[in-house]
Amino acid sequence: MKIIDNVFVVPGVVANPYIIVDPDGLTVIDAGLPRSQKKILAYVAGLGKQAQAVKRIIITHADLDHFGGLAALQAATGARTYASKIEAAAIAIGKSSREIKPTGFSFRRVLFAVMRPLMKATPFQVDEIISEGQTLPILGGLRVVETPGHTPGHISLFASSVGVLFCGDSIVSDEKGLHGSRPGITWDETKARESERKQATLGASIVCSGHGPVVMDAKGKFPI
Ligand SMILES: [Zn+2]
Repeated sequence: MKIIDNVFVVPGVVANPYIIVDPDGLTVIDAGLPRSQKKILAYVAGLGKQAQAVKRIIITHADLDHFGGLAALQAATGARTYASKIEAAAIAIGKSSREIKPTGFSFRRVLFAVMRPLMKATPFQVDEIISEGQTLPILGGLRVVETPGHTPGHISLFASSVGVLFCGDSIVSDEKGLHGSRPGITWDETKARESERKQATLGASIVCSGHGPVVMDAKGKFPI
């Protein structure tokens, strides 16, 4: 689905992968659950591009639904891969960067216990470590914004030229708007709230989160 010119979200994948088209090639932000590379590559083909046109893959954080498809997507594309130092260390051993402690009613706990053995990803060595303030030559300048809280090394990416924020799971969306990282899957609640406030000040007009719909006219909708 097209968001703005040259920015797309791949439908039907958990979590949302985003595709940016630049003259020198494509960038994918987050790679979905294991085996999601098939849907991502089908979408790339639908844009009239070869798999090898994908030049960069950026991972916001090392949860399985964001990096599960990374190893296979990289193998199919030859893309250069990027993550923060903390998240890259977790991806390198195929695990999340923090322990998930599900809270709330028992059904979720049971589901979690059942799902846990399935929550494995192929360990993968990321090519490049990225950190706060770095601007990548993508979409007119894609700035790395460190947004710890959901996980310790979570990053968001902000394209100021078009006002688009890719926020992974540091902020999630639904029909009602934008919400913070949910309790039970948040590494540090205090840091999560700080990261939400930080992102509210960036001046983003479009928010592309890991879960839920893309939020247009995002100003004033941030969870602060
Ligand atoms: Zn997550």
